[in-house]
Amino acid sequence: MGLLPGGYWDATGRLHREFELAVLTGREEELLATTRGRSAALVTEVLSRCVSRLGDISPVPPAVAQRLLVADRQYLLLALRQASFGDRVQANLICPWPDCGERVSVDFSIVDVPVYPAENPAPVHTMTLAQGQEVSFRLPTGADQEELSEGLADNEAQTLTRLLTRCVQRIGPTGPPSERQMAELPAADRLAIEERMRQVAPRVEQTIEAKCAECGRTFVAPFDIHRLFFGELRTDANLLYQEVHYLAYHYHWSERDIMDMNRDRRRTYIELLADAIEVLNGDT
Ligand SMILES: [Zn+2]
Repeated sequence: MGLLPGGYWDATGRLHREFELAVLTGREEELLATTRGRSAALVTEVLSRCVSRLGDISPVPPAVAQRLLVADRQYLLLALRQASFGDRVQANLICPWPDCGERVSVDFSIVDVPVYPAENPAPVHTMTLAQGQEVSFRLPTGADQEELSEGLADNEAQTLTRLLTRCVQRIGPTGPPSERQMAELPAADRLAIEERMRQVAPRVEQTIEAKCAECGRTFVAPFDIHRLFFGELRTDANLLYQEVHYLAYHYHWSERDIMDMNRDRRRTYIELLADAIEVLNGDT
Protein backbone atom coordinates (compact mmCIF):
# COMPACT_ATOMS: atom_id res chain seq x y z
CA MET A 1 0.00 0.00 0.00
CA GLY A 2 1.19 3.50 -0.77
CA LEU A 3 0.10 7.10 -0.59
CA LEU A 4 -0.11 9.43 -3.60
CA PRO A 5 1.85 12.68 -3.26
CA GLY A 6 -1.23 14.54 -4.56
CA GLY A 7 -4.40 12.48 -4.70
CA TYR A 8 -7.54 12.11 -6.77
CA TRP A 9 -10.66 14.20 -6.12
CA ASP A 10 -13.82 12.43 -7.18
CA ALA A 11 -16.97 14.18 -8.44
CA THR A 12 -18.41 14.35 -4.93
CA GLY A 13 -15.35 16.20 -3.63
CA ARG A 14 -13.67 13.34 -1.82
CA LEU A 15 -9.92 12.85 -1.91
CA HIS A 16 -8.55 9.38 -2.70
CA ARG A 17 -4.91 9.03 -1.87
CA GLU A 18 -4.13 5.52 -0.71
CA PHE A 19 -3.34 2.96 -3.38
CA GLU A 20 -2.58 -0.69 -3.93
CA LEU A 21 -0.79 -2.14 -6.91
CA ALA A 22 -0.83 -5.39 -8.82
CA VAL A 23 2.52 -6.14 -10.45
CA LEU A 24 2.91 -6.10 -14.22
CA THR A 25 2.11 -9.37 -15.96
CA GLY A 26 3.40 -10.49 -19.33
CA ARG A 27 0.38 -8.78 -20.86
CA GLU A 28 1.41 -5.32 -19.72
CA GLU A 29 5.02 -6.04 -20.58
CA GLU A 30 3.88 -6.91 -24.09
CA LEU A 31 1.70 -3.82 -24.34
CA LEU A 32 4.57 -1.61 -23.25
CA ALA A 33 7.12 -3.38 -25.38
CA THR A 34 5.15 -3.23 -28.60
CA THR A 35 3.29 0.10 -28.50
CA ARG A 36 5.17 3.06 -29.92
CA GLY A 37 4.58 6.69 -29.02
CA ARG A 38 1.48 8.02 -27.24
CA SER A 39 3.17 7.47 -23.94
CA ALA A 40 0.62 9.45 -21.88
CA ALA A 41 -2.23 7.26 -23.15
CA LEU A 42 -0.15 4.19 -22.46
CA VAL A 43 0.52 5.30 -18.89
CA THR A 44 -3.24 5.64 -18.42
CA GLU A 45 -3.80 2.13 -19.72
CA VAL A 46 -1.08 0.58 -17.58
CA LEU A 47 -2.16 2.41 -14.42
CA SER A 48 -5.77 1.46 -14.96
CA ARG A 49 -4.73 -2.19 -15.20
CA CYS A 50 -2.18 -2.24 -12.39
CA VAL A 51 -3.51 0.11 -9.72
CA SER A 52 -5.89 -2.32 -8.09
CA ARG A 53 -7.30 0.19 -5.63
CA LEU A 54 -7.26 3.94 -5.19
CA GLY A 55 -8.96 5.03 -1.97
CA ASP A 56 -12.45 3.52 -2.28
CA ILE A 57 -12.16 3.12 -6.03
CA SER A 58 -11.53 -0.44 -7.21
CA PRO A 59 -10.96 -1.31 -9.99
CA VAL A 60 -9.57 1.98 -11.26
CA PRO A 61 -11.17 2.88 -14.60
CA PRO A 62 -9.09 4.58 -17.33
CA ALA A 63 -11.11 7.80 -16.83
CA VAL A 64 -9.77 7.99 -13.27
CA ALA A 65 -6.18 7.04 -14.17
CA GLN A 66 -6.35 9.77 -16.80
CA ARG A 67 -7.40 12.44 -14.33
CA LEU A 68 -4.61 11.75 -11.86
CA LEU A 69 -2.10 14.54 -11.40
CA VAL A 70 1.09 14.36 -13.43
CA ALA A 71 3.25 13.73 -10.35
CA ASP A 72 0.87 11.06 -9.04
CA ARG A 73 1.14 9.20 -12.32
CA GLN A 74 4.93 9.44 -12.20
CA TYR A 75 4.91 8.25 -8.62
CA LEU A 76 2.71 5.28 -9.50
CA LEU A 77 4.96 4.33 -12.42
CA LEU A 78 7.96 4.32 -10.10
CA ALA A 79 6.08 2.26 -7.51
CA LEU A 80 5.01 -0.16 -10.23
CA ARG A 81 8.55 -0.51 -11.53
CA GLN A 82 9.73 -1.14 -7.98
CA ALA A 83 7.03 -3.71 -7.24
CA SER A 84 7.48 -5.50 -10.56
CA PHE A 85 11.22 -5.49 -11.15
CA GLY A 86 12.83 -4.29 -7.94
CA ASP A 87 14.16 -1.10 -6.48
CA ARG A 88 17.56 -0.81 -8.17
CA VAL A 89 17.88 1.19 -11.36
CA GLN A 90 20.95 1.15 -13.55
CA ALA A 91 21.57 3.86 -16.07
CA ASN A 92 24.38 4.60 -18.47
CA LEU A 93 25.29 8.25 -18.70
CA ILE A 94 28.03 10.40 -20.16
CA CYS A 95 30.04 12.43 -17.64
CA PRO A 96 29.20 16.07 -18.51
CA TRP A 97 32.52 17.54 -17.37
CA PRO A 98 34.06 18.81 -20.62
CA ASP A 99 37.54 17.46 -19.89
CA CYS A 100 36.16 14.00 -19.05
CA GLY A 101 33.14 12.86 -21.08
CA GLU A 102 33.56 9.23 -20.07
CA ARG A 103 30.74 6.74 -19.97
CA VAL A 104 29.49 6.29 -16.43
CA SER A 105 27.19 3.62 -15.21
CA VAL A 106 25.12 4.76 -12.24
CA ASP A 107 23.05 2.80 -9.87
CA PHE A 108 20.32 4.17 -7.66
CA SER A 109 17.37 3.05 -5.60
CA ILE A 110 13.84 4.13 -6.39
CA VAL A 111 13.22 4.67 -2.66
CA ASP A 112 15.86 7.40 -2.77
CA VAL A 113 14.06 9.41 -5.46
CA PRO A 114 12.89 12.56 -3.65
CA VAL A 115 9.11 13.05 -3.62
CA TYR A 116 7.50 16.30 -2.52
CA PRO A 117 3.84 15.75 -1.59
CA ALA A 118 1.27 18.51 -2.04
CA GLU A 119 1.13 20.64 1.09
CA ASN A 120 -2.51 21.54 0.65
CA PRO A 121 -4.20 19.13 -1.71
CA ALA A 122 -7.31 20.74 -3.19
CA PRO A 123 -9.35 20.16 -6.35
CA VAL A 124 -9.12 23.86 -7.22
CA HIS A 125 -6.57 26.46 -6.12
CA THR A 126 -7.02 30.21 -6.09
CA MET A 127 -4.55 33.07 -6.26
CA THR A 128 -4.59 36.80 -6.85
CA LEU A 129 -2.79 38.47 -9.75
CA ALA A 130 -0.85 41.74 -9.39
CA GLN A 131 -3.86 43.86 -10.49
CA GLY A 132 -6.07 42.17 -7.95
CA GLN A 133 -7.87 39.74 -10.25
CA GLU A 134 -8.62 36.41 -8.66
CA VAL A 135 -7.66 33.30 -10.61
CA SER A 136 -8.73 29.76 -9.90
CA PHE A 137 -7.14 26.73 -11.48
CA ARG A 138 -6.77 22.99 -11.19
CA LEU A 139 -3.46 21.18 -11.61
CA PRO A 140 -2.43 19.42 -14.86
CA THR A 141 -3.38 15.77 -15.20
CA GLY A 142 -2.71 12.84 -17.47
CA ALA A 143 -5.72 13.86 -19.56
CA ASP A 144 -4.00 17.16 -20.31
CA GLN A 145 -0.82 15.35 -21.26
CA GLU A 146 -2.73 13.02 -23.55
CA GLU A 147 -4.56 15.89 -25.18
CA LEU A 148 -1.49 18.08 -25.62
CA SER A 149 0.93 15.41 -26.76
CA GLU A 150 -0.93 15.32 -30.07
CA GLY A 151 0.22 17.68 -32.76
CA LEU A 152 1.53 20.68 -30.95
CA ALA A 153 4.51 19.17 -29.22
CA ASP A 154 6.88 21.21 -31.39
CA ASN A 155 5.37 24.55 -30.43
CA GLU A 156 6.12 24.89 -26.76
CA ALA A 157 4.55 28.34 -26.27
CA GLN A 158 1.27 27.30 -27.84
CA THR A 159 1.22 24.04 -25.91
CA LEU A 160 1.64 25.98 -22.68
CA THR A 161 -1.18 28.35 -23.61
CA ARG A 162 -3.43 25.40 -24.31
CA LEU A 163 -2.47 23.78 -21.02
CA LEU A 164 -3.25 26.96 -19.10
CA THR A 165 -6.56 27.30 -20.94
CA ARG A 166 -7.49 23.79 -19.88
CA CYS A 167 -6.45 24.27 -16.25
CA VAL A 168 -7.53 27.83 -15.46
CA GLN A 169 -11.17 27.87 -14.54
CA ARG A 170 -11.74 31.53 -13.87
CA ILE A 171 -9.93 34.87 -14.20
CA GLY A 172 -11.57 37.73 -12.31
CA PRO A 173 -15.36 37.63 -12.59
CA THR A 174 -15.46 35.78 -15.93
CA GLY A 175 -15.70 32.02 -16.37
CA PRO A 176 -13.22 29.72 -18.11
CA PRO A 177 -10.95 31.74 -20.41
CA SER A 178 -10.72 30.97 -24.12
CA GLU A 179 -7.40 30.05 -25.66
CA ARG A 180 -7.23 33.54 -27.16
CA GLN A 181 -7.89 35.27 -23.82
CA MET A 182 -5.19 33.14 -22.28
CA ALA A 183 -2.73 34.01 -25.05
CA GLU A 184 -3.49 37.71 -24.57
CA LEU A 185 -2.96 37.64 -20.82
CA PRO A 186 0.15 39.70 -19.86
CA ALA A 187 3.28 37.56 -19.72
CA ALA A 188 3.84 38.46 -16.06
CA ASP A 189 0.36 37.15 -15.15
CA ARG A 190 0.87 33.93 -17.04
CA LEU A 191 4.21 33.44 -15.34
CA ALA A 192 2.62 34.10 -11.96
CA ILE A 193 -0.03 31.45 -12.63
CA GLU A 194 2.56 28.92 -13.81
CA GLU A 195 4.70 29.64 -10.78
CA ARG A 196 1.78 29.18 -8.41
CA MET A 197 0.86 25.91 -10.11
CA ARG A 198 4.38 24.64 -9.54
CA GLN A 199 4.27 25.66 -5.90
CA VAL A 200 1.04 23.88 -5.06
CA ALA A 201 1.64 20.78 -7.21
CA PRO A 202 3.20 17.66 -5.74
CA ARG A 203 6.48 16.78 -7.41
CA VAL A 204 8.66 13.77 -8.07
CA GLU A 205 12.28 14.70 -8.55
CA GLN A 206 13.47 13.79 -12.01
CA THR A 207 17.18 14.25 -11.57
CA ILE A 208 19.74 12.05 -9.92
CA GLU A 209 23.10 12.85 -8.51
CA ALA A 210 25.75 10.67 -10.06
CA LYS A 211 29.46 10.27 -9.44
CA CYS A 212 31.85 9.75 -12.31
CA ALA A 213 34.12 6.78 -11.66
CA GLU A 214 36.74 8.18 -14.07
CA CYS A 215 37.21 11.73 -12.79
CA GLY A 216 35.63 11.33 -9.36
CA ARG A 217 33.42 14.41 -9.69
CA THR A 218 29.70 14.43 -9.11
CA PHE A 219 27.06 15.78 -11.44
CA VAL A 220 23.30 16.03 -11.65
CA ALA A 221 21.70 14.12 -14.49
CA PRO A 222 18.12 14.29 -15.66
CA PHE A 223 16.22 11.05 -15.42
CA ASP A 224 12.93 10.75 -17.18
CA ILE A 225 10.47 8.45 -15.45
CA HIS A 226 8.53 7.64 -18.61
CA ARG A 227 11.72 6.86 -20.46
CA LEU A 228 13.00 4.69 -17.64
CA PHE A 229 9.76 2.80 -17.46
CA PHE A 230 9.17 2.35 -21.17
CA GLY A 231 12.79 2.20 -22.25
CA GLU A 232 13.76 -0.81 -20.23
CA LEU A 233 10.58 -2.67 -21.14
CA ARG A 234 10.75 -1.90 -24.86
CA THR A 235 14.06 -3.60 -25.21
CA ASP A 236 12.63 -6.73 -23.66
CA ALA A 237 9.89 -7.71 -26.13
CA ASN A 238 11.95 -10.45 -27.76
CA LEU A 239 13.04 -11.79 -24.43
CA LEU A 240 9.42 -11.89 -23.27
CA TYR A 241 8.39 -13.96 -26.29
CA GLN A 242 11.37 -16.26 -25.82
CA GLU A 243 10.38 -16.86 -22.22
CA VAL A 244 6.77 -17.57 -23.21
CA HIS A 245 7.96 -19.93 -25.92
CA TYR A 246 10.31 -21.75 -23.56
CA LEU A 247 7.63 -22.28 -20.92
CA ALA A 248 4.97 -23.27 -23.44
CA TYR A 249 7.37 -25.71 -25.08
CA HIS A 250 8.36 -27.46 -21.88
CA TYR A 251 5.22 -27.25 -19.76
CA HIS A 252 2.59 -27.18 -22.52
CA TRP A 253 0.85 -24.29 -20.78
CA SER A 254 -1.25 -21.99 -22.93
CA GLU A 255 0.14 -18.70 -24.08
CA ARG A 256 -2.71 -17.00 -22.21
CA ASP A 257 -1.77 -18.55 -18.89
CA ILE A 258 1.89 -17.72 -19.30
CA MET A 259 1.16 -14.12 -20.27
CA ASP A 260 -0.91 -13.75 -17.09
CA MET A 261 2.17 -14.46 -15.00
CA ASN A 262 4.48 -11.75 -13.82
CA ARG A 263 8.15 -11.72 -14.71
CA ASP A 264 9.32 -13.17 -11.39
CA ARG A 265 7.06 -16.16 -11.74
CA ARG A 266 8.06 -16.82 -15.35
CA ARG A 267 11.70 -16.68 -14.41
CA THR A 268 11.24 -18.90 -11.38
CA TYR A 269 9.84 -21.61 -13.64
CA ILE A 270 12.57 -21.06 -16.18
CA GLU A 271 15.17 -21.52 -13.45
CA LEU A 272 13.45 -24.65 -12.21
CA LEU A 273 13.46 -25.99 -15.75
CA ALA A 274 17.12 -25.15 -16.15
CA ASP A 275 17.90 -27.05 -12.93
CA ALA A 276 15.80 -30.01 -14.02
CA ILE A 277 17.47 -30.11 -17.41
CA GLU A 278 20.87 -29.93 -15.75
CA VAL A 279 19.99 -32.88 -13.50
CA LEU A 280 18.83 -34.86 -16.50
CA ASN A 281 22.01 -34.13 -18.37
CA GLY A 282 24.07 -35.04 -15.32
CA ASP A 283 22.42 -38.46 -15.09
CA THR A 284 23.14 -39.51 -18.63
ZN1 LIG B 1 34.03 12.31 -15.39
